[in-house]
Amino acid sequence: MKSFQVTDFNAPLQEVDHPTPQPSGTQVLIKVKAAGVCHSDLHIWEGGYDLGHGRKPLSLKDRGVSLPRTMGHETVGEILAFGPDAKNETGGLKVGDVALVYPWLGCGKCETCLAGDENMCLKPNALGVYCDGGYADHMTVPHPRYLLNLKGLDPITAAPYACSGVTTYSALKKVENVFHTPIVIFGAGGLGLMALSLLKAMGGKGAIVVDIDARKREAAEAAGALATVDGSAPDALEQLTKKAGEPIRAVIDLVGNAKTTQLGFDCLTKGGKLVIVGLFGGGAPWALPLIPIKAITIQGSYVGNLRETQELLDLVRTKHIAPIPVTPMPLAKANEALVDLQKGRLVGRAVLTP
Ligand code: NAD
Repeated sequence: MKSFQVTDFNAPLQEVDHPTPQPSGTQVLIKVKAAGVCHSDLHIWEGGYDLGHGRKPLSLKDRGVSLPRTMGHETVGEILAFGPDAKNETGGLKVGDVALVYPWLGCGKCETCLAGDENMCLKPNALGVYCDGGYADHMTVPHPRYLLNLKGLDPITAAPYACSGVTTYSALKKVENVFHTPIVIFGAGGLGLMALSLLKAMGGKGAIVVDIDARKREAAEAAGALATVDGSAPDALEQLTKKAGEPIRAVIDLVGNAKTTQLGFDCLTKGGKLVIVGLFGGGAPWALPLIPIKAITIQGSYVGNLRETQELLDLVRTKHIAPIPVTPMPLAKANEALVDLQKGRLVGRAVLTP
């Protein structure tokens, strides 16, 4: 099998050839058909997160991300073989089925994992982060339960549901109670465009989208944003207030830097909620007294669980949700895809196709 691996943080991915593994125990061997390139892969590749306020960056190496690592957590594959202990636990899947890989694995044993929230486990084993993922032509998945049958959905446009999809689905559910009002979304990249299509399917009134890149704002308008605002405009706050036309009760920040979290906080009405998803980084910018005075809830949101991922695929099928724009690229162009994403050249998602 061929894979593209991070062998040094910030250095080009290396093409590596290994013998194709035979699935052991409960593993399932898949042939990768599509692997989305998420901005989180850029953070992994860069080796950490900026914590702001002059603090030492949060190092992924210190957090247990060892190299070499095959990234790729938005993967779709065709099932080639089940390990000997997986054969009685296939959940109806069979060789030849095409499935989305749920990547947000935990230890599988703790109370949190057993309650179905593996994405919140303190000992993460996420595929493509802590274990090898989909920037490869083959991949092993630890158990059939992490494979969700696509039942005819297109592998390339469905791959992003494993991260962009479930992450925005889970974030949107946290503000579902104010879907009758316009919400504000920061960032019209892979996650932002996904959030727009899901919001519509989930019955929301719609979103005003903030981005600093005119091409991304255009893409958001094409995807049905109620309005867009240039986040770098000096009057961005006034524009948001005017375009909303009513109090803003919820903000989903898919950028997550000091500027967006400040503007997101400032545009909220009393009792509003700021959900932070983006990991661009920096230090918290808010004046502390304003948090209680405005009674703001600030909530983090981290990917989503297996149940939510299945709910999302069901929603995509029943509501015929339009896919986000994708740029398919051959696996051999994994490096170019990362650089294109880093330079902001892509609209939507690049998806690698081995
Ligand atoms: P992307 O690169 O596709 O899109 C980012 C968008 O943000 C771009 O359109 C860019 O122009 C815009 N942007 C950058 N700076 C901005 C600013 N100051 N104001 C407004 N817009 C700005 O990235 P993505 O794949 O959509 O991921 C977005 C972020 O979410 C990344 O940090 C990623 O790591 C993070 N993420 C978090 C989770 C989670 O579970 N919390 C899951 C997936 C991704």
